[in-house]
Amino acid sequence: MIFIGTMNLARTRDRGDFYCPSCESIQGYRLRAKRPWLTLYFIPVVPIGSVELVINCDRCRSNWDESVLQVNAESHQELLESQVHHEIFRSMILFVLADGYMEPEEVEPLRKLACRIFQKEVSREELGRLCSMSEQSGVPAENYLETVYPHWDTGQQNLAIQAMFLGASLRGELGEERTRLLMKLRDRAGLTETDFQSLIEQCLQWDEA
Ligand SMILES: [Zn+2]
Repeated sequence: MIFIGTMNLARTRDRGDFYCPSCESIQGYRLRAKRPWLTLYFIPVVPIGSVELVINCDRCRSNWDESVLQVNAESHQELLESQVHHEIFRSMILFVLADGYMEPEEVEPLRKLACRIFQKEVSREELGRLCSMSEQSGVPAENYLETVYPHWDTGQQNLAIQAMFLGASLRGELGEERTRLLMKLRDRAGLTETDFQSLIEQCLQWDEA
């Protein structure tokens, strides 16, 4: 008796990031090329169909047509950016509010900073919601930055340093611990002392602009 059958062979052709509609977030994917083969004694011997390309989400493992990459290309980019803006904002809040609560007189300056980070109007209610979301995690600013900072581009890293500096200076003295963390980020970004100073000078003028 001869055992004849078919099986699907899949191999990974490419990897990347995409907006997964079922995870509703940016996830890694594998582009899988699937093709049915005729098997003889369970060994694939001849391909019997055309290659089918499938996008497979790394997180939820759901499969998508390749068009998922195009359809969501624009919203993917927007989402990626807004994700980074949220990360920068959260870093700033964790950095600023590590030792207490928001004082009423800090609300307006923080709201302005938030508008700067998100590049759009942020209402006071929205600010409150964002702050409590950021605080709830209980992750120290330094640990949080450890995971998000490396995947920001230079502009985003600079913006974060500026926002953190401005936010923290609302409370007067930066203090030793915050200064240390800012210096660490400066070094990570490969900024010289002069670069760093001009970043700070730049953001001190935000209000006037
Ligand atoms: Zn997914």
